[in-house]
Amino acid sequence: MTLAADLRQVLGTDQVLDHPLDMHIYAKDAGVTPGEVAAVALPATTQEVAAAVRISVRHGVPIVARGAGTGLSGGAVPTKPGLIVVLTRLNEIWDVDEAAQTAWVGPGVINLDLSKHTKPLGLHYAPDPSSQSVSTIGGNIGTNAGGPHCLAEGTTVSHVLAVEMVTAEGEVVTLGSAAPDPLGLDLRGVVVGSEGTMGLVTKILVRLIENPPEVRTLLLAFDSIEASARTVSAVIAAGVVPAALELMDRPMIEAVENFRTCGFPLEAAAVLIAEVAGHPAAVEAEAQVVARAGAEAGATEVRIAADELERELIWLGRKSAFGAVAYAAPDYYLHDTVVPRTRLVETMTGIYEIGARHGINMLNVFHAGDGNLHPLVAFDSKEPGMLEKVKAAAHEMVILSIEMGGALSGEHGVGLEKRDLMTKVYAPIDLDAQARLREAFDPQGILNPGKILPEGSRCYDFGLVANLESGATP
Ligand SMILES: Cc1cc2nc3c(=O)[nH]c(=O)nc-3n(C[C@H](O)[C@H](O)[C@H](O)COP(=O)(O)OP(=O)(O)OC[C@H]3O[C@@H](n4cnc5c(N)ncnc54)[C@H](O)[C@@H]3O)c2cc1C
Repeated sequence: MTLAADLRQVLGTDQVLDHPLDMHIYAKDAGVTPGEVAAVALPATTQEVAAAVRISVRHGVPIVARGAGTGLSGGAVPTKPGLIVVLTRLNEIWDVDEAAQTAWVGPGVINLDLSKHTKPLGLHYAPDPSSQSVSTIGGNIGTNAGGPHCLAEGTTVSHVLAVEMVTAEGEVVTLGSAAPDPLGLDLRGVVVGSEGTMGLVTKILVRLIENPPEVRTLLLAFDSIEASARTVSAVIAAGVVPAALELMDRPMIEAVENFRTCGFPLEAAAVLIAEVAGHPAAVEAEAQVVARAGAEAGATEVRIAADELERELIWLGRKSAFGAVAYAAPDYYLHDTVVPRTRLVETMTGIYEIGARHGINMLNVFHAGDGNLHPLVAFDSKEPGMLEKVKAAAHEMVILSIEMGGALSGEHGVGLEKRDLMTKVYAPIDLDAQARLREAFDPQGILNPGKILPEGSRCYDFGLVANLESGATP
């Protein structure tokens, strides 16, 4: 019996797809590289997920978990013909505990829907990726997603207390607990950000945060990127960690204003969106610190949103940034690296130089507070040689960020996109340790193979075993 036929016996006819058109659709995420699909399963319960895993293992077919498919690093793209297990039907929210500020959710719950659900209780789920109106909590766990408000609150890993998951053997286990500091190794922390290589998450106990009593949002305009980046460092150096510190350059400001009129100053070289949140007295003082830092760095305008409407308009502009790019070109490549905040100015100068040298149309909007850059290249993939040019420029930007003391990815994950660059930041012995950890969860390598770690990440693949046994340092 074929894989699809076997799956249909357990999941039912409609919950298994193997039509070429479906397979084509599920072969890609929001990145630029397609993969190969053997079949698509749409289970609705943990037990159905476990059954799908066991069937796929029996057929020797790799298994790739998928949420909304908005990932940008190819995490949900199978490298070999694989079974795509779509977890969006596991989308319930239950056991919202107002006192403990926790809730159990299915991996298919859309990020923003969770905060809408808990709003009447004065609570929200803090990680807010710009894709939050479509991406799922399960996918956010897969990539350890960040967002504008993760500067003060931390990324997804800080908001997940426990996960139920289906292992590579098709067993159901729970890692972590509601207890603040559970005994034993933190296997929950290992799973968050593991891009579906350790197990398929089927339930999540999330931490909820109280909505702040007071929020103040500022829009600061500058006539240079340097001045805006200097403001970012000055604010943090002054002892204020805003809830969000987002930077947009002129090409992105223009794209947003062409898309929706949000009142961003078109003549500015950059705008900084800063938000401070907390108790009213502290918020007032912190807003003044941000305004002063901007003025001292040469801000041409410092606007403090007068009311909720003005605040919403500023955020609408920020959150519309990626949608706005659709008007600039049919395709985009959204990059993700992170550098120390203190090296933002140098890095941005280098990134503009790379963009100009390759002759690409680049726009920038990023989480400046934690040095997380998102150069976005708008292009037309039908133009001969264009995709290669865009990828070459992207590669140079990652290398530049590493040279600046940064990391490969701030929040989109390594996936397929940056897998082969892992050797630039990790020594063979580090890769070997990560590969061994992965093997402990998935000895057969059936869960999302070909992701995160480059082929041959074990020490013996590097020919280092003999050296290690003789006591040599790798
Ligand atoms: C316009 C746009 C803006 C974005 N902005 C941000 C941003 O601000 N911050 C940010 O972090 N990202 C951002 N992203 C990237 C993307 O939205 C995130 O990576 C998001 O976490 C992916 O969620 P998803 O549901 O789409 O997951 P998918 O893309 O389907 O999967 C992502 C990874 O998680 C794994 N996975 C999915 N579900 C599970 C599960 N239940 N168990 C185990 N593994 C699983 C997959 O195998 C894959 O490796 C943006 C993307 C777009 C297109």
